[in-house]
Amino acid sequence: MSKRDYYEVLGVSKDATKDQIKKAYRQLARKYHPDVNKEPDATEKFKEIKEAYEVLSDDAKRAQYDQFGHVDPNAGGFGGFSSADFGGFGDIFDMFFGGSSRKRDPNAPRQGADLQYTMTLEFKEAAFGKEVDIEVPKEEECDTCNGSGAKPGTKPETCPHCKGSGQISIEQQTVFGRIVNRRVCHSCNGTGKMIKQKCATCGGTGKVKKRKKIHVKIPAGVDDGQQMRVAGQGEPGINGGPPGDLYIVFHVRPHEFFERDGDDIYCEMPITFTQAALGDEIEVPTLHGKVKLKIPAGTQTGTRFRLKGKGVPNVRGYGHGDQHIKIRVVTPTNLTSRQKELLREFAEISGENHQTEYDDSFFAKVKRAFKG
Ligand SMILES: [Zn+2]
Ligand SMILES: [Zn+2]
Repeated sequence: MSKRDYYEVLGVSKDATKDQIKKAYRQLARKYHPDVNKEPDATEKFKEIKEAYEVLSDDAKRAQYDQFGHVDPNAGGFGGFSSADFGGFGDIFDMFFGGSSRKRDPNAPRQGADLQYTMTLEFKEAAFGKEVDIEVPKEEECDTCNGSGAKPGTKPETCPHCKGSGQISIEQQTVFGRIVNRRVCHSCNGTGKMIKQKCATCGGTGKVKKRKKIHVKIPAGVDDGQQMRVAGQGEPGINGGPPGDLYIVFHVRPHEFFERDGDDIYCEMPITFTQAALGDEIEVPTLHGKVKLKIPAGTQTGTRFRLKGKGVPNVRGYGHGDQHIKIRVVTPTNLTSRQKELLREFAEISGENHQTEYDDSFFAKVKRAFKG
């Protein structure tokens, strides 16, 4: 399979603005996040989306991509050609050059890895937000060796295989010319350093796993599958680089009465057939407490009412959603003989006229359906 065009992946035009690219990325990332989307190819799609965004959101990388396509011009003598010029060979070039062209100084500061934390919220907690302390397992610098990984009193030495660069260069003769392929040095795993006597506390990694307590404020209105970034709470940076971020992914438990769609709440209210026929005022539970609702005489099952502003607060602060109520008229069961008597009398008095206008049109529809 050849690589798809990054613009096509994000579904934006070639002249899309940064904002448009960001927006498209966010929407797709939400849809295909492996925590949310259980389709078998979601992970692959998510990776593809992420890769496209990484390039198109960076001015320099985007300009390079616009000019050269998927082939990295630093990788060999192909500058000035796009992968499209080589027909379907795009992925062959990726195979040859994938990752190898990136010059990585093992001593350069690098950002720490991002962490992910899944949080389960009750329906109302998601609607109104909450403040909570969470414990996140994080890597911290080892106190015994101050992060060097070497036994106290000793020092890491420069790796003799890669001479401290962390990578080994291999020159290859191919049909496309001579290619220098760089690989991560296996002797030092790309760190450029060798530790003869390892620190006993961390086993030479320079890091230890600790559980760290983080106080987070969850905004009102978060929804199932959404995620929140807590800046700087990921793994610590490498060689003095900035720390990564913590992403909290929300899982919201369903409610037994309310259903949520975006900021709107949906529910079904049962009423008796006398309430439906005569009209009444009923009380409806909402997230914000009880609300009175007038039921007009002659209300049918399926009639919908809307309580404006009684939904979930918008997570970005744009007001509230509404609550939608669907009426269900409950037919009485287990009637006493007196009740039966009264209903028979009701039917008798109603005679030919006991059908309503609603019934007329409804029965007409049923009749038409039978005729096919
Ligand atoms: Zn090495
Ligand atoms: Zn240590």
